[in-house]
Amino acid sequence: MAILTFDVVEESDSARNGVVTIGSKSYQTPVFMPVGTRGTIKAATAKDVADIGFDVVLGNTYHLMLRPGSKVIQSIGGLHKFAGWDRLMLTDSGGFQVMSLGAKFDEGGVRFKSIYDGANVYLTPEGAVTTQEEIGADIAMVLDVCTNLPATRDQLQRAMDLTHAWAKRARSAKSREDQAQFGIVQGGSEDDLRQVSAQAIVDIGFEGYAIGGLAVGESREDMLRSIESTTPFLPNDRPRYLMGVGDPVGVVESIARGVDMFDCVAPSRLARHGGALTFQGKVHVKNKKYEEADEPIEMGCPCLACQRFPIALIRHLLLVGESTAGTLLTIHNLTFMHRLVAGARSAIREKSLDRYVTTIRSAYAR
Ligand SMILES: [Zn+2]
Repeated sequence: MAILTFDVVEESDSARNGVVTIGSKSYQTPVFMPVGTRGTIKAATAKDVADIGFDVVLGNTYHLMLRPGSKVIQSIGGLHKFAGWDRLMLTDSGGFQVMSLGAKFDEGGVRFKSIYDGANVYLTPEGAVTTQEEIGADIAMVLDVCTNLPATRDQLQRAMDLTHAWAKRARSAKSREDQAQFGIVQGGSEDDLRQVSAQAIVDIGFEGYAIGGLAVGESREDMLRSIESTTPFLPNDRPRYLMGVGDPVGVVESIARGVDMFDCVAPSRLARHGGALTFQGKVHVKNKKYEEADEPIEMGCPCLACQRFPIALIRHLLLVGESTAGTLLTIHNLTFMHRLVAGARSAIREKSLDRYVTTIRSAYAR
């Protein structure tokens, strides 16, 4: 029995609708995964996230391995029990956070200082596997070397070669048969490196494939071109995951290019700062024009915030610093992301994805 199965149920040009199944649980793709940084989605409970309808979320290994530590989570019975989440879960390797905090790489692994107490930590590809096996998510990511863009071709080549060597080591270190493992393609904005990287990672063989190293400073055009130069070299019967992309336009444009999975902290971070995502574009809830607005953030939105509260209340809570405002807006923005990918799935089914992408693009061009 395969650890993970992926069934493509509908296709429209490069885009596809599918179902990922692991054990007795599954989720539909294209999917957006909310990010549970430290064992919870910030400002929301696991029940809020389940009530919206999410079937898969992401946990950050970087934070969880430092606090409370993977052994603590393991002793409690794994991240599902620890976080009160009984649906599917993916953990990243921690490599991206480490990179963004200026870590030092060598052949063996990556050295960094804990943001919590300054302790020196050395993370290896094997260590990242073991830590994620202890944390116990359903899908684990290999440790890769991500490079901020722009970068020289030489830098990208070195990061890519190390990523491939580490992916092999991670695959050999894997021991849990109930946990899927995804490999990560690198290569920056160099189309030929993307192809080489995709082929090298597919040769090792994983349950799914991630496109890494994008949304790290390059233009939207470069990002989309890099996706186009990667996906033809990924197998059709495996899920494709674009790491760290969660802006509405980026998501639907990438779905049109054959991406199945997304994650990003941006929708929930924006919420805590008073920004609401809607199908008409971004709403700045603190704006004076909403002082006496008795309508919801978005008509027709099924979320708790829109069903129950006028935008004037949420604006007031933001202005007086009540944390409930962040909770309500987080629930709204995650509901929007959930509806955005559901809309893409309907559009793929009805062969109208181009029109859907145009609608979202024009809403966010304003
Ligand atoms: Zn809403």
